[in-house]
Amino acid sequence: MKTTIETSNVSRIQPRPQVIPRAEHNISRDQISESALKVLYRLKNGGYGAYLVGGSVRDLLLGREPKDFDVATDARPEQIRELFRNSRLIGRRFRLAHVRYGDEIIEVSTFRAHHNTFEDEGVVAEGRILQDNVYGTIDDDAWRRDFTVNSLYYNIEDFSVIDYVGGMKDIRAGRIRLIGNPDQRYIEDPVRMLRAVRFAVKLGFRIEPETEEPIFRLTELLADIPPARLFEECIKLFTGGSALQTFEQLRHYDLFRILFPQTDAALQMQEGGFPHTLLIHALGNTDSRIAEGKPVSPGFLIAALLWIPMLETARAYMETGLSELDSINLASDVVISKQVSRTAMPRRYTQMARDIWQLQTRLRRIKGNHPQKLLTHPKFRAGYDFLLLRTEAGENEKELADWWTTLLANPEMLNAQASRPSEPRKRRRRGGRNRSRKPPAE
Ligand code: ATP
Ligand code: MG
Repeated sequence: MKTTIETSNVSRIQPRPQVIPRAEHNISRDQISESALKVLYRLKNGGYGAYLVGGSVRDLLLGREPKDFDVATDARPEQIRELFRNSRLIGRRFRLAHVRYGDEIIEVSTFRAHHNTFEDEGVVAEGRILQDNVYGTIDDDAWRRDFTVNSLYYNIEDFSVIDYVGGMKDIRAGRIRLIGNPDQRYIEDPVRMLRAVRFAVKLGFRIEPETEEPIFRLTELLADIPPARLFEECIKLFTGGSALQTFEQLRHYDLFRILFPQTDAALQMQEGGFPHTLLIHALGNTDSRIAEGKPVSPGFLIAALLWIPMLETARAYMETGLSELDSINLASDVVISKQVSRTAMPRRYTQMARDIWQLQTRLRRIKGNHPQKLLTHPKFRAGYDFLLLRTEAGENEKELADWWTTLLANPEMLNAQASRPSEPRKRRRRGGRNRSRKPPAE
């Protein structure tokens, strides 16, 4: 039957899929989450095809723990919905189902065929509603995916792995290879350039030459991607555990310039100086935190990524006679608003970056009860960590950083310090301010 399909479909010269039986690969069911197994079996028992696909199959084959489990099926979204009471359909451009078990969400998507839209997986561009529910067969689905290593299917029917695109060979060789014509696939969706770098670094793979070559020519295409999608991608790039190496590779391919134009310009000017060092320390810290299972805050990363452009802008304001704090506030506005036109960052993150930057000035106020107040600032810890980072990077703040470090280790210092200079104020308060502050209670 396979042969008939191949000969009748002459426009697509596709080899027969390779089927790797259970005995010849290392994926076993006890590495697959219970929820994902439930989904696979319920689909199968409902008479549908059910496969694990994408990152989870790739990671399991490589002996890595998958981040999440995606399922592909020939069941239509409405049929999936009927099968799972704990599911809901999401997505305007293409509908897929989220099946929820507690905190875990299994994404179930119906096989789709290749089509000529510019975005395959991202956020929809404003006002652009694309007719994108072109369903297909499993082999259509395999060819529309991005890289060969992301296009392997684990079949719950017989526990085999199905490979239409030569993904197994590339997994073994450690190669990131686009499926199909690389230029065309990048033009269809330029975010694939970032994905190529991300997967290469994460897996320790090489980008295969034909997949690599167009990147140098096509970087500018990324500038047309909706900023919200670029930001989502940045989060994946810098919080995946290999931020430092990812940054270096993004610079190598000149992709970093598209994501952070102001930072890249500063790096060009001051290569080898502060900015590079600060950023490298920040990204290195991020990686260590992730390795230790600690949370990382995108706001902190943004503060580090934009620190030097912000500082340079603030310096220019200070030269016009503005105070340091006012200059920092104005510079933050300018730098952040330029950046959001490229990567649309949620306000809570940009606000954190602003707070961290402001604190760099405010942390210098170590007299009287200022330290006490600063310690209660909700972003104090982030501000202090940033100060340490600047010191590590060679900025001249060591004395100040040490002062705060000593204080944090000996909080009793505060009582001694606070009692002295604020005494006159206490007396004054007793006189008028206290009374006027809380008259209803008295
Ligand atoms: P991760 O470990 O980062 O989750 P992943 O491979 O699962 O890696 P996802 O972004 O979760 O990546 O996407 C799931 C799958 O969907 C991919 O493995 C790939 O097959 C397909 N896919 C995702 N984005 C694209 C894209 N831009 N173009 C084509 N296929 C894509
Ligand atoms: Mg995934």
